[in-house]
Amino acid sequence: MNLVGQMMYMPLLLSSLLQQAARHTGSVEIVSRRVEGDIHRYTYRDCHARSMQLANALTSRGIVAGDRVGTLAWNGYRHMELYYGVAGIGAVCHTINPRLFPEQIAYIINHARDRLVCFDMSFAPLIEQIAHLCPQVETWMMLCGEAALPPSFAVPLESYESFIDGQPQHFVWPQFDELQAAVLCYTSGTTGNPKGVLYSHRSLTLMAYASVSPDALCLSACDVVSPVVPMFHVNAWGLPFSAPMVGAKLVLPGPKLDGESLCTLFEQEGVTVSAGVPTIWLGLVDYMRRTGKRNPLFKRAIVGGAACPPQLATSMRECGIDTIHAWGMTELSPLGTVCSPSPGYASKCADEQARIDAKQGRAIAGIDLKIVGSGGEELPWDGKSAGDLMARGHWVLDRYYGVDQSPLEDGWFPTGDVATIDADGYMQITDRSKDVIKSGGEWISSIELENVAMSHPEIAMAACIACEHPKWDERPLLIAVRRPDSALTAAELLAFYDGKVAKWWIPNDVIFVSELPLTATGKLQKLTLRQRFGKHYVEGSAPSA
Ligand code: AMP
Repeated sequence: MNLVGQMMYMPLLLSSLLQQAARHTGSVEIVSRRVEGDIHRYTYRDCHARSMQLANALTSRGIVAGDRVGTLAWNGYRHMELYYGVAGIGAVCHTINPRLFPEQIAYIINHARDRLVCFDMSFAPLIEQIAHLCPQVETWMMLCGEAALPPSFAVPLESYESFIDGQPQHFVWPQFDELQAAVLCYTSGTTGNPKGVLYSHRSLTLMAYASVSPDALCLSACDVVSPVVPMFHVNAWGLPFSAPMVGAKLVLPGPKLDGESLCTLFEQEGVTVSAGVPTIWLGLVDYMRRTGKRNPLFKRAIVGGAACPPQLATSMRECGIDTIHAWGMTELSPLGTVCSPSPGYASKCADEQARIDAKQGRAIAGIDLKIVGSGGEELPWDGKSAGDLMARGHWVLDRYYGVDQSPLEDGWFPTGDVATIDADGYMQITDRSKDVIKSGGEWISSIELENVAMSHPEIAMAACIACEHPKWDERPLLIAVRRPDSALTAAELLAFYDGKVAKWWIPNDVIFVSELPLTATGKLQKLTLRQRFGKHYVEGSAPSA
């Protein structure tokens, strides 16, 4: 006979995280650099109180469980209140990436059927452009006070502050099924329309619990956490949930993400740990090197969203910052792996440690990974066999929003990444499957070739793409941005590869450009590069220097 455990049942709801922070670490600060340009500071207790005001306002406006509320906002305290106030009443906080094309944003708002859309003042021109395309939105709300509303606007507009003003600072958070949806985020849609990923209260809460552990993001009440990674893309890697969970001070950087702005903010607020894509850290390191500024409290930068070039890790270390490489994706809420040390790491030589640090890391508790070959057979964890990376776990997508068919294969989600896994469980992404370079039937890792280029002192950024080739089907082509004042030639850069990769991996040519196209989430836009340069070896294209 089954015997049921006799412990309390409390559904895993996001509201409980903020309530916990307000009750137990209520005086800990949330500091925000606002779009308005100034610094705003209040406490978890205040954030909870205003989130309850918002919950009251939403409820009296008729927003009910399951309704979608869109947000187009930078990382800031009002966005935090929307996360909790909206999800707390059982509605869905639909975070929208403002860097997508306006038509894609309108598509997403319509597809999600957002009833209310809240946006930062800086996105007012964008909203004016798309509002007429989204007729089912009942209310457009600017995240500001009444006085800051523009005198005229394309559609009727409300101010967030007036909306919540006067509402009671008390609200009894409803207890409902933890499988209810809490947050909706669309993929970047580099091919085709973006697809919705609908996170549940349970999946986000479990990810937050797992993410704070020492082998994951290692967060504690003594940390000051600054998510540079935006709250409009995959929950800012869960930090708006995990920081209150441990009672860590939260520093939200708003729209200014250049090296100088971040360095100053981190120093002023005593930030100890932050998270962002490699391009953010390239900007910070550049600034720190140029100015000689150092920040002794800022010790850990979590790097993900794209591969962390080893050279970046070295430069960061020279500035006193350890990089922690992590991998994830929208469909994984996003945390999948973190490159934390395994037993034996400490006794390895520096070169070996650097090789491990360059990997995307080990699956965090709650996530399982495997790599499979073209026939679906599981490949060995030998650090050499590269195959399609599959994931399963408590916060992995089951199916896309509004799509009946599940993409799962035998209970596993095909990530679209190609990877190796070594005997210690360290996973290394070699490519996005569509970016892999197949030369004479063999695979070449574009990421590895980019990492070598990026380790050249005169290269600021590099992308490697598959380029059609008359003999080998595809050959690697490097597209690179030189540092200012560099006169590096293609031949010199190619010679730099000697001894660093197999000879047949070395790109056939280099094209220098002034900048590389980035996606809405700061990743290299290889599709655009392939469209522009993909026939370079058959037809020729822009001349290389
Ligand atoms: P997104 O869903 O927009 O967050 O993109 C997820 C994709 O970004 C993954 O499937 C990977 O291709 C890529 N990605 C994320 N983190 C890393 C990383 N640390 N190294 C290499 N690629 C990464």
